[in-house]
Amino acid sequence: METDGDTIKNTPTGFRCTLCNVSLPNQPSLDQHVKGRKHQTLSSVRATRKIQEEHSVFVSGIKPDVSQTEISEYFQQFGQVSEVILDKNKGVYAIVQFDETHSVKAALSCVEHQMKGLKLSVKPREKKDFKLIPKKKNIPDYQQFLDYLKPQLCQLMSVDEQMRYVVEQCQLGEHETEARGLLVQLLQEVFVEFFPDSQILPFGSSVNTFSIQSCDLDLFLDLENTKVFQAQAKSATETVGEGTSDDGRSEDSILSDIDLTAASPAEILDLVATILRRCVPGVHKVHVVSNARVPVVKFHHSELKLQGDITINNRLAVRNTHFLQLCSGVEDRLRPLVYTIRHWAKQKQLAGNPSGAGTLLNNYALTLLIIFFLQNCDPPVLLTVAQFKELACEEEECVIEGWDCTFPSQPVSVPLSKNTQDLCTLLAGFFSFYSQFDFASSVISVRDGRTLPITDFLGQNEEKKAMHETQPTTSPHHSPKLGPLNLLDPFELSHNVAGNLNVRSVLSFQRECQEAEKYCRSLQYKRKSAKGRSWGLVCLFTPSGETPCAKTEQLTISIPFKVESLPPSLQDQLRATGDGFRLLWFQKVCCAVEGVLQRVLRCHLTPSTDGVFSENSAMDAVKNVVFNVSVNDSCEMPEPQNDASPQRAALVGSKRSLSPSGDESTSPQGKKPRRAKRGKPKVPQWNCVQKHMVWAGRRKVRRELIKDTDSRPEGSCVELESQVTAHIVEKEMEIKEPLEFRVEPQMVGGTESSRAELKLVPTNDKTGVFHDFFHFLQTFLPKMVETMLAEERGEA
Ligand code: ATP
Ligand code: MG
Repeated sequence: METDGDTIKNTPTGFRCTLCNVSLPNQPSLDQHVKGRKHQTLSSVRATRKIQEEHSVFVSGIKPDVSQTEISEYFQQFGQVSEVILDKNKGVYAIVQFDETHSVKAALSCVEHQMKGLKLSVKPREKKDFKLIPKKKNIPDYQQFLDYLKPQLCQLMSVDEQMRYVVEQCQLGEHETEARGLLVQLLQEVFVEFFPDSQILPFGSSVNTFSIQSCDLDLFLDLENTKVFQAQAKSATETVGEGTSDDGRSEDSILSDIDLTAASPAEILDLVATILRRCVPGVHKVHVVSNARVPVVKFHHSELKLQGDITINNRLAVRNTHFLQLCSGVEDRLRPLVYTIRHWAKQKQLAGNPSGAGTLLNNYALTLLIIFFLQNCDPPVLLTVAQFKELACEEEECVIEGWDCTFPSQPVSVPLSKNTQDLCTLLAGFFSFYSQFDFASSVISVRDGRTLPITDFLGQNEEKKAMHETQPTTSPHHSPKLGPLNLLDPFELSHNVAGNLNVRSVLSFQRECQEAEKYCRSLQYKRKSAKGRSWGLVCLFTPSGETPCAKTEQLTISIPFKVESLPPSLQDQLRATGDGFRLLWFQKVCCAVEGVLQRVLRCHLTPSTDGVFSENSAMDAVKNVVFNVSVNDSCEMPEPQNDASPQRAALVGSKRSLSPSGDESTSPQGKKPRRAKRGKPKVPQWNCVQKHMVWAGRRKVRRELIKDTDSRPEGSCVELESQVTAHIVEKEMEIKEPLEFRVEPQMVGGTESSRAELKLVPTNDKTGVFHDFFHFLQTFLPKMVETMLAEERGEA
């Protein structure tokens, strides 16, 4: 191994190790460093590299079809070859390593190297200094870019100017656009060689006018014409004879190995990947992702520094891209809004799944949310997709995979909006709109420009399947996969483009909208700071966590309306109940809560009627649709009703109403809040007594109980959890003085994501155990309620 002499330098303040890139203040710390693992490892790697350099030669002039074995065999004449490293991507150079250094000399002294008719050039290995390449700082280019942008934004005069400036600075430059165009052209030329008459079509942000400098290049390889070509060539071969097709093209192509009509997408994509690897210069890291919703070949282009995706079944994406492009052409406020909101969402870690995997919004879904908001402004900024369709002429009619994708091809066919709000107001309106939105129980339809009741989508799949089987003329399309955020694709109406989100990501989105909405009401948002402070967009582009966010109510347990985890039978009941579905669900939840407390956790419950609303309190509350629902003590199911059971529903007030139109009586979903019916709406409440610390040591007991059976996660089995409690109650002493608390459930929905909220109020906690119990319940209760509802065990 090398000595450390050449890597340790004296400096005015001590020593510097140039290998590890560190400064050491004195001799003891230097000695320690040199003995340390990092220095030892790097020294040993450096020594190995040096030996390799001395034992090898650099060979160029080879061709991609030359194999490692052939190169090794050729160089054996100069001495024993220990390794041949081929440049994998281009296959045009190799490094040949010998066992002995005299073989290197022999190879270098040979005047001419001829191998398989190729003239090879053989040179000594370049001597490179071995240095530790510092790890990239954990700040992506994007963050640096924003840091550079922020002071400039502060200099501008208005939020509108800032928003337009963001577009200017972020959009793809002319040269980049041109370079991408050339790559597309090159790919087209290569693919058409292998797939005659195929077409490569860009879509996504490179086309939809929302490109940013680092955006990916989404491509659709259209093989429809190739399939026709292949079919014709096949029948011609059968009649004319083997060898050539009727247009004289050689049959000796990739197409003779694969039948495009019969092949699976994965097989075709494998072929596409091979072509990319072998025939497109500059393309690296090619791999097929065949288990995605839309299977794709991914690649990287090193010179253009871009990520590319090629899909083969994605005609709808090309069409929806043109739709976004049309919207942008019709309404010039859309681009600044999309760019600004995309940056905001990225900073707040709400969006950023390029592939739609993970639990964040992807940019396409976020753009649709913006369009939906603009459709709901007063007056609307954008038309609904259905209205766009009405403006199209006959030639513009378009149906893809059975979905109507008709819209005008040119923005001039679309009348201008009467809405004249500036960008600053629209941006604030966006945040306000979604901060009061009931995501959990609505389905957003950009096609209709309104939300559709979730009950219309419950329990339909079985029905549709059965109907399609008996009447094949009916639509075979499935219902969308429902989740905490339901956003229908504008054309493929059975697809929820936000189906990948989970409750937590939707809650974060809404919480950040609420934060942003609050900020947008401040002067700091609208007015340039005279003292040079951050203002306008700058604060919106601050990563989440750097600004304090609203704390959730401390002693409240939230049970979200998770339609996707409800059993089909309950979904059917909710559907039959129509508008009153929240009430029915809430009743089921209350029964389940009662079951968990009483049967699973052995709490002693007594219904309390303390919470009867006075008529006045119900009358005061008219501005938001927040239901407080009474549940009868026996937890009987109500008869399915078409209305929200007004006898039971009361509306309670909340502080503000901020619909973008300024119409305080309308929720974002366009519903008028219903007034409470006079009477005595009861708030369900229970007084609870807990005598044992059933929350302590549960995990251990559970582990012991399931030792010999299959393991189940906490809260996934009612019987098991009841046994765990029984075990604890049997073994452990009672709490000195029982814990007493009150549970006050409340249904929230309409202007916020639908959920049941349980407020817990300690009424006697002399031993101070309430907080531990509460923390346990915070995760345990929602999980158990979900399990009980899934098992339809909501009855008391
Ligand atoms: P960027 O690449 O800058 O993140 P983008 O506008 O290209 O933004 P992507 O998320 O890459 O957005 O999506 C590219 C295209 O793929 C979209 O324009 C759309 O046509 C299609 N697409 C993406 N996600 C979905 C989805 N969840 N459902 C349906 N189509 C989608
Ligand atoms: Mg993209």
